[in-house]
Amino acid sequence: MGLYSVGLDIGGSWVRAAIGTREGAILKREAERVSSESGESFIKQIEGLVLRVCDGDLSKVSGIGIGAAGRLDMRKGIVGFSPHTGIRDVPLVEALEESLGKEVILLNDCVAAALAEKIIGAGKGTDDIVYVGIGTGIGGGIVSGGELLLGKDGNAHEIGHMTIDLEGRLACNCGGRGHWEAYTSGSALPIYSRLLAGGYDGVETPLLGRLGSVASSKEIFEAHRSGDAFAKYVLDKAAGINAIGFSNLANLYDPSIITVGGGLALKNVEEVIRPIDQLLPSLSFNRPPKVLPTPLGEDAPLLGAVVSVFELGALT
Ligand SMILES: [Zn+2]
Repeated sequence: MGLYSVGLDIGGSWVRAAIGTREGAILKREAERVSSESGESFIKQIEGLVLRVCDGDLSKVSGIGIGAAGRLDMRKGIVGFSPHTGIRDVPLVEALEESLGKEVILLNDCVAAALAEKIIGAGKGTDDIVYVGIGTGIGGGIVSGGELLLGKDGNAHEIGHMTIDLEGRLACNCGGRGHWEAYTSGSALPIYSRLLAGGYDGVETPLLGRLGSVASSKEIFEAHRSGDAFAKYVLDKAAGINAIGFSNLANLYDPSIITVGGGLALKNVEEVIRPIDQLLPSLSFNRPPKVLPTPLGEDAPLLGAVVSVFELGALT
């Protein structure tokens, strides 16, 4: 068995690759925007990244781990649907195993992150861990009783598509309505803020005045830091929705900890993660878990992909 593995984190916008060890030490990494013109161009991009991070020499590589956002058919090794890209029905595992001659393990990106949390992160020595990623979308991964939960196709836990608004006021990228990620993910917050403006009866604020042109969630957090009352209203409402999602997870899985990753949450810990930790005890039927930012940072899915080869591979 080789000393190293190659991990890939395929997100909604970026694909990251790294060569690393079973302890999660990264030796070399690369990142590119996802190429999704066709399945072939996407496969070529992944092959190229794998070869670049190991300088063209796969002899010391045990296998390749992939954490991919979107709907998978893990048993057939297919990335079926990636909501923020044009990737559809790509037989990634078979193509890479054929061209690179190494075992390939395919997981959801947040499932990979949950595995990383258990092996090298905040969940070391803990058997019941939930990982939640709040970034462009919202995803999750669960370790229960020490086991990674996968589901029949590898799509447990698409938590971002749990319904949190029975009226279904906002449409989700998946085509559904009222789903969690359609409200408080990075891509959704500007849209959600425009919905909230209709019921806001506070003072006029700079953010409200230019709300029609707000394109990124970053602008809402910046407005909040400059004291904008409407931005605070939006972020309070978002925290309430996030806390409901987290209480559902606490009641379903009774974890010791819920770790939170994803760019939106990690760049705004005080506004996104702290309020959830504060609200959870009043919402959770079960003894509430501790909610904390992942110590693995935005590398959590990538590190999970790296360690998955050693933890889940056929040779282990
Ligand atoms: Zn959805």
